[in-house]
Amino acid sequence: MAIISDDEGLEKRVKRNPIVKSETIEYDNLFESNIRPKDFDSYIGQSALKETLKITLEAAKRREKPLDHMLFYGPPGLGKTTIAGVIAAQMGVEIRITSAPSLERPRDIIGILMSLKGGEILFIDEIHRLNKVAEEILYPAMEDFTLDMTTGKSQTAKTLRVPLPKFTLIGATTKAGELSSPLRDRFGMIHRLEFYTVEELTKVVMRTAKILEVDITEKGAEAIARRSRGTPRIANRLVKRVSDFAIVKYDGTIDEKVANESLDILKIDEFGLDNTDRALLSLIIDKYDGGPVGIETIAAALSEDVRTIEDVCEPYLLQAGLLQRTPRGRKVSPEGFRHLGRKMPSTQTSLFD
Ligand code: ADP
Repeated sequence: MAIISDDEGLEKRVKRNPIVKSETIEYDNLFESNIRPKDFDSYIGQSALKETLKITLEAAKRREKPLDHMLFYGPPGLGKTTIAGVIAAQMGVEIRITSAPSLERPRDIIGILMSLKGGEILFIDEIHRLNKVAEEILYPAMEDFTLDMTTGKSQTAKTLRVPLPKFTLIGATTKAGELSSPLRDRFGMIHRLEFYTVEELTKVVMRTAKILEVDITEKGAEAIARRSRGTPRIANRLVKRVSDFAIVKYDGTIDEKVANESLDILKIDEFGLDNTDRALLSLIIDKYDGGPVGIETIAAALSEDVRTIEDVCEPYLLQAGLLQRTPRGRKVSPEGFRHLGRKMPSTQTSLFD
């Protein structure tokens, strides 16, 4: 299997989302190809997804047909791109990786579709950001494996149906709700990736440490896993950061003490929250009595992009029960107040805000 990565897409992704910038560059350029699991056995967790996929893949192989189009959604770093690579490897086909923001002009998507070979996988990251024109080119491509091309102008215009090889589209998104329903309906399988448990992330950390030849104890791995926000990408990044501390400040081995002390210095707390997360919660508490307050107001006050807050910070804060989403905006939960060591104002007790 060869992965052909679309660098322009990656660059745009990085520009759009400054929080993941360093890890995206670091991992994609240096470690990514080594660390990224290539088969079901090394792809840790997401057991429901893996079980379904194994059956789907086996059935497609026996029928000698391409796989159904698939949509994976969930917060960044949970393994959407990785599982697409695993699927391609299992099917013994190539995967072509791109992202919606790099498919601006009709010729971008047409060019990719025409370059595909039978059975190949086209992976489109951030698929909710596809523009209307690209979407309309995709509909017949996904459904009938054809490209409808218009030649000529107005009255003399003709539509040409160009056959395409039978390919599989795998879409990934952090926002399934923003996909248009005609596009969503064309996926045969839609699956949400879940945050990982501490146990699963401990395995991710142990595996990554082994690949990077970092000395680590099980307890050290667990300490990193606990502060990784349920996200393998963060776990991998922390292994690298903590290993730097282990080498420079300790004897090179990551045990529980080394992991916890290093993560404290990095200002990543026991919940895995970093400065941005804490700033977000503190802002709502200090300036808006715990909320509710609109996301745009929060983003402006933190000088952050709304999308970054919605895609990167919020999903974990909501899942950890520190933040709540209400019709009138975001609210810090009683647990959130407790976590920051703050007292709840007496007005912040209604469940119906
Ligand atoms: P997404 O596409 O959802 O943003 P990626 O697939 O790029 O996430 O995964 C981010 C990182 O996490 C990769 O470096 C990958 O190696 C690691 N990773 C993701 N899922 C798993 C998993 N299930 N087991 C082990 N490592 C994983």
